[in-house]
Amino acid sequence: MGDCIFCRIARGEIPCRKVYEDDELLAFHDIHPVAPVHFMLIPKLHLASLAEAGDGHAALLGRMLVLAPKLAREQGLENGFRTVINTGKGGGQEVLHFHIHIIGGGSIPPMVRHG
Ligand code: 5GP
Ligand code: ZN
Repeated sequence: MGDCIFCRIARGEIPCRKVYEDDELLAFHDIHPVAPVHFMLIPKLHLASLAEAGDGHAALLGRMLVLAPKLAREQGLENGFRTVINTGKGGGQEVLHFHIHIIGGGSIPPMVRHG
């Protein structure tokens, strides 16, 4: 995906504030953080969204979920964090390259207001 912004970040064509990198995955700080700590974990391969994930992506997605709390702790989120995956138009996804938001620090409001 030549012009996908997160593919370009993964290839090093657009700079980012890197949190973590290995052969398959990259984590970097969100350019518009919504909390004191807000970074994204992405696969380097282009997968548009969770809706496009198939059985062949299971190991990769599993690796991402296992890595997320380790990176969160390294970023100082010992007390917990929020993970957000926006999927497609209906989920408010703006960048069509699968990513997990990891958000924390400060006070994180409840996600759903009751009453
Ligand atoms: P989405 O709404 O697709 O789940 O989230 C996309 C996120 O990517 C947004 O929070 C936005 O701030 C972030 N973002 C968009 N473009 C860039 C960029 O060029 N660099 C970084 N670091 N974050 C970006
Ligand atoms: Zn991409």
